[in-house]
Amino acid sequence: MLLDGTRIGAEIRREVAGGVAALRRERGVVPGIAFVSVGDDPASRSYVAMKEKGCAEVGIRSRQCTFPAAVGKGPLLETIRLLNLDPAIHGILVQLPLPPGIDALEILSAVSPEKDVDGFHPLNAGRTLLGAGGFRACTPAGIVELLLRSGGSWEGKDVVVVGRSAIVGKPLAAMLMQRDRRANATVTVCHTGTRDLAAHTRRADIVVAALGQPRFLKAAMVREGVTVIDVGINRIEDPASPRGYRIAGDVDFDEVAPKAEAISPVPGGVGPMTIAMLLSNTLLAARRLAR
Ligand code: NDP
Repeated sequence: MLLDGTRIGAEIRREVAGGVAALRRERGVVPGIAFVSVGDDPASRSYVAMKEKGCAEVGIRSRQCTFPAAVGKGPLLETIRLLNLDPAIHGILVQLPLPPGIDALEILSAVSPEKDVDGFHPLNAGRTLLGAGGFRACTPAGIVELLLRSGGSWEGKDVVVVGRSAIVGKPLAAMLMQRDRRANATVTVCHTGTRDLAAHTRRADIVVAALGQPRFLKAAMVREGVTVIDVGINRIEDPASPRGYRIAGDVDFDEVAPKAEAISPVPGGVGPMTIAMLLSNTLLAARRLAR
């Protein structure tokens, strides 16, 4: 079975569009999000453009706050301070990575936790670990939702997450270990310090590959009947392609798919789910702030 993020992401976007229309009708509130980005990294620019398009499609207003790569932390913090106070803005997203020299944690911590629709503020990260209310990071939340809405379950499963970043691996592990029917998994997190990574992935019911290494997960590293979720978005040079590059996941799809009971493709898997969850979080923020 293909874990179809394009279809499920579209389903979530339709639900969000309905929620946005209702909020507008009943409370006169139009959800608004601000994108704070620094520098002109082409990948970051294309992610922001996709997020903006997603917002427009569901009726969320978006605003761009773009800074040159050489900007210091002062103007960023001042912009975030003003956005925190702006009643037309319900969500603030700081596009990562920030240039070296800027302390990302300091900038992310300046965003009001009530407007932190990316779920990266330490308060929301902590709430995720505790299983308390707050915003969940979009990519891991999208991964959880992708399997559940495909008819799968995390409950009781041996899940191996490869990658321990603060935006994917760690928050996903925190979400999946919760005593909750949507989670309740036994989670192992692997990284570059893991001895014999394949021994872990081979015994897993579900492998989530989030390490940023193109086609890393091979057929020999998984067991028959595994479920595989591929988070990777890697640009591979390809002179034959009109853009000069191709996108590859962290999983060798052609090798692994025949052994897998369920697998997510790249593109069309986790990517559209991340955007759908961002839209969903922004609607949630607007609803909460409009109370
Ligand atoms: P990071 O580079 O921040 O983290 C990568 C993690 O993988 C680290 O924990 C690292 O270990 C681990 N790792 C790297 N190489 C290996 C290896 N050979 N063996 C074991 N562990 C390894 O990446 P991100 O979490 O930000 O992103 C991961 C991938 O997901 C990227 O391809 C990224 O583009 C993609 N992504 C996709 C999103 C989507 O919406 N679909 C959203 C966010 C990211 P260590 O900690 O020891 O260095």
